Amino acid sequence: MALSPPCRFGKLWDMKKEAAKQRLKREIAAVMRSMDFVSGHPSLAKGGRGREAALYAGIYQQLALAWEHLALQCRHWDGFKKKRGGVRCCPVCGLVEGMEAPWLLLPRRGAKAIGQRTRPTSAETFASKTTATVLDDAIAFHGAKLRVAVANPYRSDLFRDLPITVAAHRTVTLSEDGFECGIDEHMVRLRTEPRRPKAEPPFGAFLSEIPSKVLKTFPVMVEYDRRGRLVGLCLFRAPGKRVESAAGNGKAGRKAKA
Ligand SMILES: [Zn+2]
Repeated sequence: MALSPPCRFGKLWDMKKEAAKQRLKREIAAVMRSMDFVSGHPSLAKGGRGREAALYAGIYQQLALAWEHLALQCRHWDGFKKKRGGVRCCPVCGLVEGMEAPWLLLPRRGAKAIGQRTRPTSAETFASKTTATVLDDAIAFHGAKLRVAVANPYRSDLFRDLPITVAAHRTVTLSEDGFECGIDEHMVRLRTEPRRPKAEPPFGAFLSEIPSKVLKTFPVMVEYDRRGRLVGLCLFRAPGKRVESAAGNGKAGRKAKA
């Protein structure tokens, strides 16, 4: 998450970092003092019953939430230090090492980063998809949907009589305006419409297998370099329509298969 500054700005960067750390330390310490004050109120000492006790307990909860939200700004600059009881905590925000904060804090402007590039963690085959899942997270970002799913190998009984092993994978799917682009280790797949659960699966063919008469109706352009290497693929859309000849695509594909 930390950005490395150009070296001549290094000192200024350090000063800014130190100022942010000190400000956060002061603000968290103030919240902690308020929490201590509230928790010491006489109404809470007597078993914590009654209207007044409920009021102070509520204030305590709200202060704890303020602490949680302040701690999101912490980059744990000084690492985690051992505290009483053997747990390791951040000396700035008090977060216990390894504990996941329930919220994320992102800057309104500039680069936003959530998590790191996660990959499968084991070569062992797991008994179920649930136990094999390393990460399955999604975000709706200004109207586009992005999902990252990472899993170790697992046994699947998708086809009841023929149990299969699903290979370890990292799949990234971007959905925008009815289009879906999926990227994994073996394939980049672009779909012009979402797959309906019980719909017949589409046919597949390499370009060289499709008759040129049919191929001409596909609004697809391949990009290649002087050495004849494929460098990109472009799918054209007509204004207001999904894809230029979307209506013809299904039929053409079927004919091509036959
Ligand atoms: Zn911290």
